[in-house]
Amino acid sequence: MLDILIIGGGPIGLACGLAAQKAGLSFVIIEKGCLVNSLYNYPSTMTFFSTSEKLEIGGVPFVTVHNKPTRNDALEYYRRVALSSNLPLNLFEEVTNVKPIDSGYEITTSKSTYQAKKVILSTGFYDIAVNLDIPGEDLPKVKHYYQDPHYYTSQKVVVVGSSNSAIDVALETYRKGAEVTLVIRGSEVSSRVKYWVRPDIINRIKEGSIKAYFNSSLAAVRQTEVDIDTPEGKITIPNDFVMAMTGYKPNFDFLAKIGIKLTEDKFIPTYNPETMETNQRGLYLAGVVVGGLDTHLWFIENSRIHADMIIKDIVEKKSEA
Ligand SMILES: Cc1cc2nc3c(=O)[nH]c(=O)nc-3n(C[C@H](O)[C@H](O)[C@H](O)COP(=O)(O)OP(=O)(O)OC[C@H]3O[C@@H](n4cnc5c(N)ncnc54)[C@H](O)[C@@H]3O)c2cc1C
Repeated sequence: MLDILIIGGGPIGLACGLAAQKAGLSFVIIEKGCLVNSLYNYPSTMTFFSTSEKLEIGGVPFVTVHNKPTRNDALEYYRRVALSSNLPLNLFEEVTNVKPIDSGYEITTSKSTYQAKKVILSTGFYDIAVNLDIPGEDLPKVKHYYQDPHYYTSQKVVVVGSSNSAIDVALETYRKGAEVTLVIRGSEVSSRVKYWVRPDIINRIKEGSIKAYFNSSLAAVRQTEVDIDTPEGKITIPNDFVMAMTGYKPNFDFLAKIGIKLTEDKFIPTYNPETMETNQRGLYLAGVVVGGLDTHLWFIENSRIHADMIIKDIVEKKSEA
C-alpha cells in the first residue's frame, strides 16, 4: 500500500510529489492527460503574470531571461523538475473513483486500482468550461479554449467575457486581422484585467478598432450570425467564430461523489485551511481546486504552499500513529 496517491500532475500535484519524496514517503502521481496538462492546453502565446520565482516548486530555481515566463518556459521548467527528480508519474490515466477502506483509500483509474493510506486531490479547474447555456452553443464554431490567434485571421470573431483571457483573445486576434466584437455583461472592462493590458483594450474600443457591447449578453449562435441582447434591444450581427471566454470550474460532481462536502452557493469544498485535509479523513486538497467557483482567487503563486502543509500533516500523523 502506498503512503500517498496524488491525483493530478499539474504544478501543484508535482509540488506535492516533491515534498513527499523529500519526506521519504512512497507515492505515485496519476494524471489523466500529459504532464502539466492544463498548462499544455493554454494559449501558445501565453505569458504568466507571475514572475518565474513565484512559480517555482520544491525549491528548484526557475531561471528565465525575462522575468515573466511564457507557457513554453513553464513547460520546460516543470518537465525538467519532474524528470530530474524521477517523480513516479502515471500519465494518460484518469482517476474515476476514490473509496474509503479500513486502512486508507482504494483508488480506481481508467487503467488500474490502487490502495493508498492518504490521497491528495490536485485536479485544478481547467477541464470544465462554464457554459453560456444559449441556443447554438454546441456548434463547432463556439470555442471555450483558445490556442492561437492566426486561425482567426480575416474572421468575424465575437469574444464573450471581460476577464484576462477574454481581453487577451480580443487583442491578439484583432492584431492578426480578425474583426472583433466583445460582448461584456458589465458596464466596463473588468478591473481585474492586468493593469498593463487594460489601457490597451480601452483605447482599442474607444478608437473603434474593436467593437464592444456593454451591459449585454450573447443570446443565440447560428452558423453565420449571432444575436446579442443589448440595452437598446436585440441585435443580429454576422459571425464566423464565438470565443466564449466565460471561465472554468472544478469538477464538482467528482468532488461530491468522493464524499467532499461543498458549500451551496459557491461549491467551496470543506477543508481545514491549516492542513488542507477535507471532511474525509486522510483525503487532502491541493492547488486551485480548493476555490470552488471563486477560481480567480487561486493561482500557482499562492497555492504551491499547500504541498508542504499537507506533507507536514501526513508526517506528523504518521509519527503519532
Ligand atoms: C491563461 C491563464 C494564465 C494563468 N497565469 C497564472 C500566473 O501568471 N500565475 C499563477 O500563479 N497562476 C496562473 N494561472 C493559474 C494557474 O496556472 C493554474 O490554475 C494552475 O495550473 C494550477 O495548478 P494546479 O496544479 O492546481 O492545477 P492544474 O494545473 O489544472 O492541474 C490539475 C491536473 O489534474 C489533472 N486531472 C484532473 N482530473 C483528473 C482525474 N480525475 N484524474 C487524473 N488527473 C486529473 C488535469 O489534467 C491537470 O493536469 C493562470 C491560468 C490561466 C488559465
